[in-house]
Amino acid sequence: MRDTRFIYINYFCSTKLDKMFSIDKIRADFPILQRTVNGKPLVYFDNAATSQTPQVVIDAIVDYYSSYNANIHRGVHSLSQEATDAYEKARIKIQQHFNAEKSYEAIFTSGTTHGINIVASGFSELLLAGDEIIVSALEHNSNIVPWQMLCEKTDAVLKVIPMSEDGSLQLDVYEELLSEKTKLVFCNHVSNALGTINPIQEIIRKAHQVGAAVLIDGAQACPHIKPDVQALDVDFYVASAHKICGPTGVGILYGKEEWLQKLPPYQGGGEMIETVTFQKTSYAGLPHKFEAGTPNICGGIAFGVALDYMNSIGFDAITAYENELLLYGTEKLQEIAGLKIYGTVSKTAVISFNIEGVHPYDIGAILDKLGVAVRTGHHCAQPIMDFYNIPGTVRASFSFYNTKQEIDILVSAIKRAAKMLA
Ligand SMILES: *Cc1c(COP(=O)(O)O)cnc(C)c1O
Repeated sequence: MRDTRFIYINYFCSTKLDKMFSIDKIRADFPILQRTVNGKPLVYFDNAATSQTPQVVIDAIVDYYSSYNANIHRGVHSLSQEATDAYEKARIKIQQHFNAEKSYEAIFTSGTTHGINIVASGFSELLLAGDEIIVSALEHNSNIVPWQMLCEKTDAVLKVIPMSEDGSLQLDVYEELLSEKTKLVFCNHVSNALGTINPIQEIIRKAHQVGAAVLIDGAQACPHIKPDVQALDVDFYVASAHKICGPTGVGILYGKEEWLQKLPPYQGGGEMIETVTFQKTSYAGLPHKFEAGTPNICGGIAFGVALDYMNSIGFDAITAYENELLLYGTEKLQEIAGLKIYGTVSKTAVISFNIEGVHPYDIGAILDKLGVAVRTGHHCAQPIMDFYNIPGTVRASFSFYNTKQEIDILVSAIKRAAKMLA
């Protein structure tokens, strides 16, 4: 049975898309796509775990270490000033990309996990026993553990928005969970295990009606969607550069100024202080209050270049093209006997599936022999797997540099694997 709910609004007819989007040119930007794996051309469908890196980003990294590597801020010498300028310019690019009102509302982090922990740790000083935190059932482990730790520390209570069979959240239950006791709501913008696009605008609006703050995990949304934090009216939004064509070890925590002022600093160290004596230390203003120690300077600069690169292609074109891949892949995969797809609501270009009677790991291992990289397992989202009562899934996640021909290779590789394992 075909499920046409996958189709969401597609503004571009194919001819227009071809003009906007030159796939051959895009693929030439990614040196790694030329390599082979186990003697076969690499087909990289593990984009939800990390994206590949275009040459402009690699060049920015090489350029930093070849020509202006220096520690930033307060340096009087030229190299330090060049590095500081480039790093702060990257912050402004990030501010503009996420449409933050002020550049100091964009805090550099080491990634999504770090950003979540800054907020969780800050709230440990704002919560009282009996306060409530709501998380969604679609969360990544990194979005569950910090809240459990926070609840243990503060005697706050953790509540969960349940999910439905189709991979969506039960918003009616969410409304029932909300009350004046709710202080914080956490939800991912897009689920990494299923690709579900959550209705975060509505989730944020409802939370604000009871005075709760909202943190959105945008790690999985940002490769596909350009978020507007002001339009969303979100209090905190986090993402990782390495899923948006940038390097690992750098990310962003956006916070509304009033919330960043309210939260205590996360770590003590250099850069986050204004004056230090043994009697008293006063903290630096934003963003430095949350940026203790020497940051990933090169990573921050390369993150800015990665955003420039993606914006030069354009998120409208990326979304339209990836939707085509999702539709094509879904249609082809559904033709395979015994194959079940998990998550059938509006989603990004992710297909999570199993073949009846076959362990996902075994499929993944055979696909690798055929040059196809997919992820198998619980995708750091154990509660979702428990919900479906499965050990895990095979997840093929597409990017704008993938092609329909690669999906054909995936499909024939799965067929081969299924035959071997039957
Ligand atoms: C990848 C991912 C994370 C973790 O990101 P890190 O870069 O490992 O910190 C968190 N949430 C979601 C939804 C993700 O996809």
